[in-house]
Order: sequence, then structure tokens, then C-alpha cells
Amino acid sequence: MIRPPANMTAQEMGRSTKAGRDFVDSIIATAKAIATDSDHQHRMQKCLCKACHYRSMLSAGVAGAACTSRPCMRCGQNQHYASTATDVLCADCAKATDLCKKCGADMELRMRQTWPVPNEPKTSPDD
Ligand SMILES: [Zn+2]
Ligand SMILES: [Zn+2]
Repeated sequence: MIRPPANMTAQEMGRSTKAGRDFVDSIIATAKAIATDSDHQHRMQKCLCKACHYRSMLSAGVAGAACTSRPCMRCGQNQHYASTATDVLCADCAKATDLCKKCGADMELRMRQTWPVPNEPKTSPDD
């Protein structure tokens, strides 16, 4: 494949500089937000781990536009999504297990000795 040279104009270089600066700024802002968990309350409401919640600050994510359904990995109840970006848990199971709704990680990204199993009865909040 052969590509023509880029247009070396002030406008193009300015655009690239702006895009690069925006990318770097968003990485730094996201890193600061993760370090302090600055959006903790909102993150808890959405049942997302730090990775899934703050990753959304970097990009909207790459997902297909097809409506998709997927059963919750714990209770098996079918969940419906507006795109192919599906979650592994329903909201109730995410809350009950303190796992990320989207990816199933520990909400605070702590490695656990034991992990919840499918269809287990609701456990005490501090087990
Ligand atoms: Zn569930
Ligand atoms: Zn997650």
C-alpha cells in the first residue's frame, strides 16, 4: 500500500498537536481520577470497578450497534443491551457480590482468596 504525503499545513499540524495534547491531558486526568477514585459515588451507583469506570473517560469504547442480550453469569437472568457492549452481571448480582457489573472484577480491584459462585444465596455484606 502506498499513501500520498500528508498535507504539511499549519492547520494540519495544529490539528495533530491539539489531538496529541488532548490525548495526553485525558490520560493524566484519568490517572489522577483513578488515584483518588474521585468519582467513587457515581462509580458505586453504576456497579463498576475502577478500570471499567475510568476507562470510559478515555474513550467511549468500541461496541457494535446491534441490540444484544446476555444472561447474568450469576443468576442467569437475561439482560438486554442497546449495543454489543454487554455486562457479565445484572445490577442486583453486582451489588450482592461487590463485583463490577461490566467485567466481573472486584469493585476495588482487590485479589480475593475466594470468589462468589453462580446462584449462591445472598451473603452477609462483610464476609
Ligand atoms: Zn444476576
Ligand atoms: Zn470492571
